[in-house]
Amino acid sequence: MIAEDSFVFRVIDLKQYVYCPRILYYHTVLPQVRPLTYKMEAGIAAHTQTEQKEKRRSLRTYGLQQGERQFNVPLYAPELYLSGELDMLIETATELIPVDFKQSKQEGEHFRLQLLAYGRLLNAICNPQQKTIRRGFLYLIPSRQAVEVSFTPALQRKFDKAMAQLHLIAEGQQMPEPTKKSGRCVDCEFRRFCNDVL
Ligand code: SF4
Repeated sequence: MIAEDSFVFRVIDLKQYVYCPRILYYHTVLPQVRPLTYKMEAGIAAHTQTEQKEKRRSLRTYGLQQGERQFNVPLYAPELYLSGELDMLIETATELIPVDFKQSKQEGEHFRLQLLAYGRLLNAICNPQQKTIRRGFLYLIPSRQAVEVSFTPALQRKFDKAMAQLHLIAEGQQMPEPTKKSGRCVDCEFRRFCNDVL
């Protein structure tokens, strides 16, 4: 059970928690220390370029004949304790489809859960017509590839579990274990705080 005065998380917090739980911890207890790295600046620039190109493209990349696109859609649902800004929303006659642009060569579970979080937010606040929200797309900028992600029951369960863990970390303010994938620490901006890795 989540307390009423719990934190409201950003969708990016969920992604970062799945990537490494400590990143969420540092964000929560040391919000002022995060530097803007070259990698982040490059990611922001790539997003902007992708958005401009996307406005000129057809929806064939997503296997769709028609649909309306909205960009940078702000989303906030207090009942989900979640907020975020979606890169692109495709609305068809029957579906709402979130699309997240990624400056990455491959997809991963942290990205899939982030996409599902946008789906949950859309369902909570942008879906008066009860359109289907069953999938989303990760658009991998380097390869210009759209990867479809199905919002399966297993992914939904992982999302619920991760959100519960987010609240425990933020409320308990205890440093969680580092990621088991130590390769992720190599270029992490919080590495100087993690003396027990690498
Ligand atoms: S250095 Fe490693 S363990 Fe520490 S926050 Fe970064 S990814 Fe996580």
